[in-house]
Amino acid sequence: MSDDTESKLDFIRQIVADDIAAGTHGGRVQTRFPPEPNGYLHIGHAKSICLNFGIAKEFGGKCNLRFDDTNPQKEDVEYVESIQEDIRWLGFDWDELHFASDYFPQLYEWACDLIRKGLAYVDSQTTEEIRAGRGTATVPGTESPYRSRTVEENLDLFARMKAGEFEDGAHVLRAKVDMASPHLIMRDPLLYRIRHAHHHRTGDDWCIYPMYDYAHGQSDSLEEITHSICTLEFETHRPLYDWFIEQLGIFKSRQYEFARLNLTHCLMSKRKLLELVNAGVVDGWDDPRMPTICGFRRRGYTASSIRSFCKEIGVTRFNGLTDMVVLENSLRHELNQTAERRMAVLNPLKVVLTNYPEGQSELLDAVNNPEDESKGTRQVPFGRELYIERDDFLEDAPKKFFRLAPGREVRLRWGYFIRCDEVIKDADGNITELHCSYDPETKGGHAPDGRKVKGTIHWVSAEHAINTTVRLYDYLLAVENPADIPEGDNWRDALNPESLVELQDCKLEPSLKDAVPGEAIQFERLGYFVVDSKASSPEQPVFNRTVTLKDSWTKKSSQ
Ligand code: ATP
Ligand code: MG
Repeated sequence: MSDDTESKLDFIRQIVADDIAAGTHGGRVQTRFPPEPNGYLHIGHAKSICLNFGIAKEFGGKCNLRFDDTNPQKEDVEYVESIQEDIRWLGFDWDELHFASDYFPQLYEWACDLIRKGLAYVDSQTTEEIRAGRGTATVPGTESPYRSRTVEENLDLFARMKAGEFEDGAHVLRAKVDMASPHLIMRDPLLYRIRHAHHHRTGDDWCIYPMYDYAHGQSDSLEEITHSICTLEFETHRPLYDWFIEQLGIFKSRQYEFARLNLTHCLMSKRKLLELVNAGVVDGWDDPRMPTICGFRRRGYTASSIRSFCKEIGVTRFNGLTDMVVLENSLRHELNQTAERRMAVLNPLKVVLTNYPEGQSELLDAVNNPEDESKGTRQVPFGRELYIERDDFLEDAPKKFFRLAPGREVRLRWGYFIRCDEVIKDADGNITELHCSYDPETKGGHAPDGRKVKGTIHWVSAEHAINTTVRLYDYLLAVENPADIPEGDNWRDALNPESLVELQDCKLEPSLKDAVPGEAIQFERLGYFVVDSKASSPEQPVFNRTVTLKDSWTKKSSQ
C-alpha cells in the first residue's frame, strides 16, 4: 500500500486491506467503475471514480472501466465518449475497457444453462400481472401460471424470443427462485426482456436485453472483479448478485455498498439532468451551473479540488446531505494558493483624475500572487481616466464606509491615494462620473507624511481596459435539499431564478486578454474566474465566475 493512504482506512479500504492480508484471491485487487452511458457523469460519479480507481492505485490493483450498456433506448456513443474524457480529466485511467454488451453472447449461454438446470423459465404474463404477483414485504408473491413450463419449452421459447419472433413485452425470462422469499428481489426476478431497439454497439443483433441484476454481477465475474463497489440502494440486490454467481458456479466477485453523494442545491441523477438539458433550462450538459464533471470543468473547477473534496467527505454507509460549501471551500483553498490575481471592474463607474496630465499614462507594478512569490509581478497601466466599481462609491456614506465618498480618500490597489472632489450627474440625477485628484507622492500605496486611508479598492485604466462580458453563476436549485423536490414536473419551481446573471461592458485589465480556458484567475475582491471555453473568442474573452471569495449563501440563510 502506498504512503499517501490515510492511516485510518475507510471501511471499504479496510476490507480490501484485510483481504490482501488474508491472501484472498492471492492478494489481487481488481475494481471497476461501471457507468451506464445514458448521460454525462456528475459529481456523485466522481465519488465512485475516486473510490474505485483510488483503491486500485493505493493497493497496487487494477480498475476497469465498464460501460453498463444494457438499456439501448437511453444510451448513446456521445455519452460513452464524454464519460471517458471526464474520467481522464479527473486524473484516472483504466486498465481494461469493457462493455457489458460484449458479454451478451456469454450471458445468453448462461441463461440457457439456468433454464436447463430448472432455474429459469419464460413467463408470458403481462408486466402488470408480474408486478401484482410479486406480493409485498408482508404478503408473499404468487407463482406465475407459466412457472412449470418444461425445460424444452423454455429453451424453445427463449430461442424464439432471441430470434425476434415476438413483440416487446410478449414474454420475459425469469429466474425460478422463491416467490415467498423475504427478499423481494428473490421473487423470480427478470433476467431478460424483449426490446426491438437499436443498440449503439451491437446494432440490431439482439432484440432481447439482459436486466441490470443479471448482467452486472456476471460482468463482474467475467472480469474477475474482487471488490464490486456500488451505492447502498443495491444492498437489497446482493442476495440475487450472489445467487446467480453461486448457481452458475463462476468466479465469486463480492459486492460492497457505500452511501451515495448527495449535495445541497444539486440534482444528482442523469435522468433529471437530461430533463434540464432537453427543456433548454441550461446551455447543455456542460452548462457551468450543471453538477456534471464537464459543467464543473467549464465553470473553472480543477480536477484536484474535486479529488480533495472526495477524500474529505470520505466513504461511509450513512446516507446524508453534503453541503455544497464543502466542495467550494476545497476549490477556494486550492485557488488561493495557485490563482494569479488580476483587476476587473464588473459594474463600472468612471473616475477622472483631474490633476493627472492629459495624454499621459504609466505602468504600475502589481504582485501576481501574494501567496506565491515565484509568480512574480506584472505591470498594470494607469492613466487619467479609470473605472472603479459602482459599489465602491457612496454619495451619502456612513462613517464606517471605508471606500470612496465625497471629500474622502481611498487607496487604489498598487497605485495612489485618490480623493473625490466632485460628483457628476446626468439630468435624471444618475451619477455618471467622479472627478477626483490623486496624490503623486503616494505611489505604491503609502503616503510619505504617514497619512492613513482605511480602504483599498480595485480599478482599471479606461484607455487600456478590455470591454467584455462576465457571467456570475449561482446554484441552479434554490431548494437546499433536492430530495424535497416532489417527483414530476415540479422541479421548475425549485430553480433559482438568479442562477445566471450576465454582465455586459465589464472592464478588465489588459493582461487578461491572454487568459485561456482552464486557467483560474482571481479578480481581486470579487472571486475566482475563468475564461468560458465556448463563448470566448481570442479578441473577446468571456469570463465565468467559478466561485466567490467567501461563501455568501451560509451568510444569507443565517441572517
Ligand atoms: P444516475 O441515476 O445519475 O444515472 P446511476 O447510479 O444510475 O446514477 P450509473 O451510471 O449506473 O449511474 O453509475 C455508475 C457508478 O456510479 C455506480 O457504481 C453508481 O453506484 C455510482 N454513482 C452514481 N451516483 C452516485 C452518487 N451520487 N454517489 C456515489 N456514487 C454514485
Ligand atoms: Mg443508472
